[in-house]
Amino acid sequence: MGFFSRFLPKRKPAEFKNNIPKEKQNIKKTFGMYCHRHHDTKGDKLCPKCTALLATVMTKMNRCPYGITKPICDRCDRPCFGATQTKEFMEIMSQNQGRMFFTHPIMTIKHKLAGMGVDYAKYQQQKKIDDKAKAKEKAAKERAKGRKGKK
Ligand SMILES: [Zn+2]
Repeated sequence: MGFFSRFLPKRKPAEFKNNIPKEKQNIKKTFGMYCHRHHDTKGDKLCPKCTALLATVMTKMNRCPYGITKPICDRCDRPCFGATQTKEFMEIMSQNQGRMFFTHPIMTIKHKLAGMGVDYAKYQQQKKIDDKAKAKEKAAKERAKGRKGKK
């Protein structure tokens, strides 16, 4: 394992961008839309419950284990918040996605693309692992062949 890992590139994947500021904007917007519709608030104001949840989301996002490579939250396999808050957060985010298509088609498409980006990153990760296993197998075969040849 150590032998092969020496030959793996050390660079960080370049396709990852820090999308936290953008995602924070997206979340704030979605919370606003949701709260205005469901809790009868207006303008920049959110109801106390949504304000509290949003504050938690914003704080926890800064401590996200993914750091700058963080995928969009609804695709995250390690949600930052507790089970109850994650459920509430997802509900707010998902309820607005259908509506977003009419009001912000570009944002919905971007959200989908970001989701695809996560799938792609996961695919690349798996591919790297598979390639490594294949290379190992090939090297073992070569070594076996070499031993036979010497006989
Ligand atoms: Zn609210």
